[in-house]
Amino acid sequence: MGKKTTSEKTNNNPWERAKNQLKIAADKISLNEMLYQQLLNPDRIIEVSLPLKTQKGEIKVFSGYRVQHNNIRGPYKGGLRFHPNVDMDEVKALSFWMTMKNAVIDVPFGGGKGGITVDPKPLTEKELESLTRLFVRKIASVIGPNTDVPAPDVNTNPKIMGWIVDEYSKIVGKKTLAVVTGKPLDNGGSLGRTEATGLGGVYSLLNTLKKLGKNPKGMTVAIQGFGNVGIFLAKFLQKEGFIIVALSDSKGGLYIPNGIKDIDEVEKCKKEKGLLAGCYCIDSVCDLKNMKNLGGKSIDSEKVLTLPVDIVVPAALENSITKENAIDIKAKIILEMANGPTTSEADEILRKKNVTIIPDILANSGGVAVSYFEWYQNIHNEKWTKEEVFKKLKVKMEKSTEEVFKISKKYKCSLREAAYILALQRITKENK
Ligand code: GLU
Repeated sequence: MGKKTTSEKTNNNPWERAKNQLKIAADKISLNEMLYQQLLNPDRIIEVSLPLKTQKGEIKVFSGYRVQHNNIRGPYKGGLRFHPNVDMDEVKALSFWMTMKNAVIDVPFGGGKGGITVDPKPLTEKELESLTRLFVRKIASVIGPNTDVPAPDVNTNPKIMGWIVDEYSKIVGKKTLAVVTGKPLDNGGSLGRTEATGLGGVYSLLNTLKKLGKNPKGMTVAIQGFGNVGIFLAKFLQKEGFIIVALSDSKGGLYIPNGIKDIDEVEKCKKEKGLLAGCYCIDSVCDLKNMKNLGGKSIDSEKVLTLPVDIVVPAALENSITKENAIDIKAKIILEMANGPTTSEADEILRKKNVTIIPDILANSGGVAVSYFEWYQNIHNEKWTKEEVFKKLKVKMEKSTEEVFKISKKYKCSLREAAYILALQRITKENK
């Protein structure tokens, strides 16, 4: 691969893109200049060093970040990501997107995000726990139920959130469940939080299809990313009658034009083999031979985005849809379940091709919506049933989707621009 030019680097820098998105929407509604400057510059950025002694006795130093972007609407809120590509600009962009997302889905939170530059996979569980607890000790003075509430994101999960509650509670001398969301069920977590991002995406998509006058039954879907979000999304979509024809993770994917019938089996197969390619299971037997019998094949992860399907779902990391592959996208609908999957240039290409993009800050906001429900239950000492959680999530997703459509009509703009406008209007209202 050749070296990237400066303009490519700038274009694919998520923070540059985020600022550009803000400017476009701010100009459209003549946003108050003071508020614009506040949103252009995060309230506080924190970078900490995390020296860890591995179980083999080596010392490794990792970098940890927390960006508190804006708290006009409430405590900073957003996930923690453990990934080798985490850097300050990525975290800044993700924190800005959280401010916007939390306003779009109308939860009383501002936006924040954090992470550690680390590949967690080669670490032992003990090392991961030590690293997480060290990070909590370094940021404990700036987080809390009413100041900043982290949550899971890429490569973090309920178990890690459990360590955070525990460490934070030790520091403040009091069990403090609401300091973080996405916790294990037996440690203050909410029913439905694990499924929330995927299910929220389904609700938003169904609402969008209704607006476009399209029948979801039999529509074909390709999903890039088979983590927590992609897995639940695939299962819920299938229940609604969509046909999932392709799934992929970072190592590869599988494509079966007639539909991947048993997502649970694929999930099991991935757990056993550690990768998705070749995973098609029938009667609990997973192998490539079965896949070939069904007319399927293994494909590269990026190929999933350009398959001949009705709906494409980027559910992995930023910058998966670029000017290089946007031109080859055949789907007419893109459901952005990842944060920031589409570069600005790709956005423009897709707009010209008349592709409907359900933007990330709407499509994947179901996760933080249920994080809010969890935080609320912790604070009020309540426990809601899964049915209650899903019902409340549906109402929120449908309402926000409606609002975004209304604004896009009024301002004759894309759903992405409309979502930003809605967020800015809501932030303006609270900016007393
Ligand atoms: N990491 C998720 C997101 O990007 C969830 C954040 C949260 O629940 O606070 O929306």
